[in-house]
Amino acid sequence: MSDLAVELTAPNGRKYIQPTGLFINNQWVKSSNGQKLTSINPTDESEITSVYAATPEDVDTAVAAARMALKDPSWRDISPTDRGNMMITLSDLIAKHAETLATIETWDNGKPYNDSLGGDVEEVKGCLKYYGGYADKIHGQTIDVGPSKFAYTIREPVGVCGQIIPWNYPLAMAAWKLGPALACGNAVVIKAAEQTPLSILYFANLIKEAGFPPGVVNILNGYGREAGAAIATHLGIDKVAFTGSTATGKEIMKMAAVNMKNITLETGGKSPLIVFADAELDQAVKWAHVGIMSNQGQICTATSRILVQDSIYDSFVSAFKKQVQEVSVVGDPFAETTFQGPQITKSQHERVLGYVKTGIEEGATLVAGGEAFVKEGSASEKGFFITPTVFTGVKPSMKIYREEVFGPFVVIASFSTEEEAVNMANDTMYGLGSAVFTRDLTRAHRVARNIEAGMVWINSSNDSDWRIPFGGVKQSGIGRELGEAGLAGYTQVKAVHVNMGTRL
Ligand code: NAD
Repeated sequence: MSDLAVELTAPNGRKYIQPTGLFINNQWVKSSNGQKLTSINPTDESEITSVYAATPEDVDTAVAAARMALKDPSWRDISPTDRGNMMITLSDLIAKHAETLATIETWDNGKPYNDSLGGDVEEVKGCLKYYGGYADKIHGQTIDVGPSKFAYTIREPVGVCGQIIPWNYPLAMAAWKLGPALACGNAVVIKAAEQTPLSILYFANLIKEAGFPPGVVNILNGYGREAGAAIATHLGIDKVAFTGSTATGKEIMKMAAVNMKNITLETGGKSPLIVFADAELDQAVKWAHVGIMSNQGQICTATSRILVQDSIYDSFVSAFKKQVQEVSVVGDPFAETTFQGPQITKSQHERVLGYVKTGIEEGATLVAGGEAFVKEGSASEKGFFITPTVFTGVKPSMKIYREEVFGPFVVIASFSTEEEAVNMANDTMYGLGSAVFTRDLTRAHRVARNIEAGMVWINSSNDSDWRIPFGGVKQSGIGRELGEAGLAGYTQVKAVHVNMGTRL
């Protein structure tokens, strides 16, 4: 075994070879100064392994490789159909390695294994196949300007795309960004989050196996302020796509201005879920639970503000509390029965518990959870667990009502009229997801139009599908990922004017 890979045995007994290097030009290399970062298992706080962490010099090397790839005939001149087939091959390889990828994701991130396998890995597979299918369907237009002139457009790749991804869906976020970028013929330098460096390195080997030429996809681990900032400021990068916090998104915008990079940002949220009195209560409760408590509440679109019409407020709160206590089984993410694993890191764990303290100080009522959860029978009392937390009696002025907590933490408030519900829903700097529960069809669509959000779920919550555009308004982001709309950020339109004989 080289010193750029290590054989590991995961907590579920699965043995596999974990790459630990930087993936540049289809090769594994060390970081320029040998620096590494260590991945921590959030379930028991043990060290999993260390991997190389990119320096700005390593980013330079990766960008140079990507620039070469853009000129390489084996990528630049390949037929779009062949490019798409490569992506479909990659998708098939994901299917072949699904269990190992899901194991790594759960070990490194703490999300329940069934979610990693049935959710995240499926998402990667489906998204890459979907965009693979698009590769030979990305057309320009011919534009009629009369008989003496003729015009057409070509949709060209943007160039070298820097992609900075978060820790809550490490593989899936990579696929959301790689899918459209590769379908459109770009070359990529992608940086994983320092909290979850492992699964993407395993994925890197599959990229090579699928036949992508060297330099088309370069995968780095590294710290945000070092490798991430080097990507955002790099003069050799034409576009930066980012998912993460709104604060970091703003910093990236400023850095990207250095060479006016094309940007796509998917940032934070405080998504409302409105329940009208005529809604099917049982369904509203179940979807509201899934909408906030899935993935340990670490979802940018989590419906973290539940707004309930006053006449059913008390019955909703008691049914919701019951649902949380019965369904949100907290524990070992590899256990079949677990609904909720640990938070990603000690600092996120402390952050969520800090909001519990804030909520109590602000005068809200804690009706469930709010405690650091020590796994039953655990001798070590380790792991970043939190009991699913529900606050009622919240006011729009409270921090817990306004700020993104990013954990299994929800606030429930009441409203009396539709107008008030919409005003409350829109009273936020964010505009990512939103949900409305009602049996009144007309009202459902009226509210959908009036809500300031990139996505609305009617009688549902947190649906995401690679065929459907995903993204936010206001301070939740710029641009769209997924669906046909996701291609727009990865091509630029060149207009060609043809003189058909007009002479001066
Ligand atoms: P973050 O936004 O700081 O990190 C996300 C990615 O950006 C990581 O890859 C990180 O290395 C990189 N990054 C960080 N600083 C950077 C910089 N200055 N320049 C370039 N890249 C940089 O998120 P975080 O600190 O891990 O989490 C903090 C909060 O962010 C969470 O509590 C949550 O509210 C939010 N968050 C949102 C999402 C989402 O999907 N929208 C995902 C993760 C975190």
